Amino acid sequence: MLAILLVSAFLSGCSVSPTGRNQLTLYSEDTMAQQGSQSFEEMKQQLPISQDTKINRNVQCVAEALLKTAELKPVEWEIVVFDQPDTVNAFALPGRKIGVYTGLLDVAKTDDQLAAVVGHEIGHVLAHHGNERVSTTMITQAGLAILLIGLQTQDMNSPELTAALTGGAQIGIILPFSRAHESEADTIGLLLMARAGFDPKASVVLWQNMSQAGGDGPPQFLSTHPSNESRIEGLESHMDEAMALYREAAHHPQCPAR
Ligand SMILES: [Zn+2]
Repeated sequence: MLAILLVSAFLSGCSVSPTGRNQLTLYSEDTMAQQGSQSFEEMKQQLPISQDTKINRNVQCVAEALLKTAELKPVEWEIVVFDQPDTVNAFALPGRKIGVYTGLLDVAKTDDQLAAVVGHEIGHVLAHHGNERVSTTMITQAGLAILLIGLQTQDMNSPELTAALTGGAQIGIILPFSRAHESEADTIGLLLMARAGFDPKASVVLWQNMSQAGGDGPPQFLSTHPSNESRIEGLESHMDEAMALYREAAHHPQCPAR
């Protein structure tokens, strides 16, 4: 019965990402938007929000230029700067939410570099990566449950085997998958920033800054994120296309200084 449910979930939930990758999205846009909005509300309650007018204006301006280019309506989006100097990060959520931590602004030193990060985050939303991630996790867990029930009936079950299977699914299915999301968001973000009139070469400088600021993180094979070096390689492989879009861009955003 569970197996039939899994197969029908696959069939009904198949879609194609902006770069042409087949993906599994089991949840409705509304459900994802609700989840995104709820998480965002919780973050706003828990974290201090930056009251720095200059910083807010600058981040707003960069994000708006990208949203407009993606044919999204900036007025419908909530863009919040969290006052977290030690967090070098940003995110975008279904439900039209963007969060930027002040720590990012030390690493993304120019508007073009900030646009590279925010463009990447918008890329995750445009490609429905959140939906795909929760859908795949759900299916993987259901698949594992079936496997474990099968093993149990054959008297082969052991805590070690369960742990090995669960860990294997994590490393074999979920991790490479997150990396596929990262490189896809990099590509979408790169082309989006270029179309919006931000210099796409700044994306490479940004990841070089990231390396200087925080090293390369955990070993790549165990990390959900590609190394900064492989990110730069991926970005470089789309740079000609991005530079052509940048040259064609109607205008170059002039955002107020931070
Ligand atoms: Zn990402």
